[in-house]
Amino acid sequence: MLSILNHPLADHIVTHLRDKTTKPATFRTLAYQLTLMLAIDATRDLETEPKTVETPLETASGKVLTHQPIVVVAILRSGVSMVQPFLDIFPDVSVGYVGLERDHATAVARNYYCKLPPLAGRRVLVVDPMLATGGSASQAIDVVKSNGAVAPRLVCIIAAPEGVAEVSGHHPDASIHVAVLDRALNSRKYILPGLGDFGDRLYGT
Ligand code: URA
Repeated sequence: MLSILNHPLADHIVTHLRDKTTKPATFRTLAYQLTLMLAIDATRDLETEPKTVETPLETASGKVLTHQPIVVVAILRSGVSMVQPFLDIFPDVSVGYVGLERDHATAVARNYYCKLPPLAGRRVLVVDPMLATGGSASQAIDVVKSNGAVAPRLVCIIAAPEGVAEVSGHHPDASIHVAVLDRALNSRKYILPGLGDFGDRLYGT
């Protein structure tokens, strides 16, 4: 399932992220804000339980989150930029990292780093800002599933149709949450119109 943020603020932020004149400091702030919106969208089915509280005026029936640990797994390196918004809004989050490096000769990604908290029974969200070919995302989902994650979610800022097809084909149980779906990949596997290299834009490299 593909879920696209359909919100004027998301469109506003994406447009400024795309703009090549946006400086890294602003880019980081915008990426943080958009990831907050995605974090909310990707967790809209969190369970709640009833709770009654006293307002200064009367008794109110409310809801609070039930204890459901969330694990955010960032794909190195750009995925790291999407961790903080989850830490800032959810009370019970742990973080894992997966490093994948593409072998240019074979085009197969090698898992060079993997540090994961327990995943079984937890809600697992894999984060990576650019879903291009979908190769790394698909492989990261393989990694989290082999470590106990069930129906993990993939949260990205921009996706190409090719990446969505790849991940959905390999992982039909994994929902994909994106801010926008772009047109296509170019011959160098960059997303069009995209925003260029996310890591370079983020870190000014
Ligand atoms: N990764 C990026 O940073 N940008 C793209 O367009 C594709 C993959």
